[in-house]
Amino acid sequence: MIDLKSMSQQEMTDLLRSMGQPAFRGRQVFTWLHRGAQSFEEMSNLPKSLREQLQAECLISVPKAARKQLSRQDGTMKYLWELADGNCIESVLMRYHHGNTVCISSQVGCRMGCAFCASTIAGKVRDLTPAEMLDQVLFTQMDSGLEISNIVLMGIGEPMDNLNTVLKFLELVNHPDGMNIGMRHISLSTCGVIPGIERLAALGLQLTLSVSLHAPDDETRSKIMPVNRAYPVDELFAACHNYFQKTGRRISFEYAMIDGVNDHDWQADLIAKRLKGMPGHVNLIPLNDVVESPFKPSKRTAAFQKRLESHGLTATVRRSLGGDIDASCGQLRRKAMEEAKKGEVSQ
Ligand code: SAH
Repeated sequence: MIDLKSMSQQEMTDLLRSMGQPAFRGRQVFTWLHRGAQSFEEMSNLPKSLREQLQAECLISVPKAARKQLSRQDGTMKYLWELADGNCIESVLMRYHHGNTVCISSQVGCRMGCAFCASTIAGKVRDLTPAEMLDQVLFTQMDSGLEISNIVLMGIGEPMDNLNTVLKFLELVNHPDGMNIGMRHISLSTCGVIPGIERLAALGLQLTLSVSLHAPDDETRSKIMPVNRAYPVDELFAACHNYFQKTGRRISFEYAMIDGVNDHDWQADLIAKRLKGMPGHVNLIPLNDVVESPFKPSKRTAAFQKRLESHGLTATVRRSLGGDIDASCGQLRRKAMEEAKKGEVSQ
């Protein structure tokens, strides 16, 4: 079966041409799918015979909202989506002043192995398709009735480990006949996979790159982030400087504050040293407690922020949303997996 929604408009046009259809059909089908059509029957401006042919040869992905959690504190909504093959992924809808933002997953699980992260505990199951990434935005918007204006690729998975798909997704979600979300409204977060950063730099996309730094020295970073053994800090910062040179876009560095591990003043000083020559922004994140992890949230966040600022850096402390619904990605999926193992019926 052909996964139609993963195709670009041009690919759809070519496919429909090969079925003997005029050129404008590609745009019609693309528009229907990107408005969330769930069957070919709905596509009322297509001839019946074509609808039947598409029905026989193509599939339309439709994720099922297996669970939903709504934060009473701030309206954050968390979705557990069940995909066609039974795998589950998470998306989180956050209601910021600057617009409704959806945080989406790029893989089922993750193979990066960061020691503090819930998404990677059971490893990677598979990559998502472009359609499965797009569906998270589309169906979150349809289910919630809230218009999505911003996307962050910060859910389950490492986007650079599935970069071809991510680039295709960006093309789809950015398309004027589709959701039409501008690159400047999209952030992509990586644990520091250098070849991916280099590829993005060469493309010069106007999205915001976030780098999950979490430690500015190899000894600490290699302990908590195995990716650092392949791509050490010196090389990572060289790639970041190059990215800024090529795109002119400021990079945001994510930094989860871990008690006694990465919250020392000397580490703030080292971040400043490494960022010299580039307008970086450091986003300090209160560590989310993950049951399986030995790490505890730092109590030095304010002091660390001051130390960074004393070097002239901009550092913010991320406002934590959805604290009452385990909103950090990976935790709801893990919970559902544990319960399935115990044989409990999911609601
Ligand atoms: N793989 C990508 C994107 C997914 S993780 C990346 O590593 O950037 C999204 C962000 O959440 C990353 O910055 C990640 O390091 C952070 N994160 C993971 N577990 C966390 C936890 N327990 N507390 C705080 N932040 C966490």
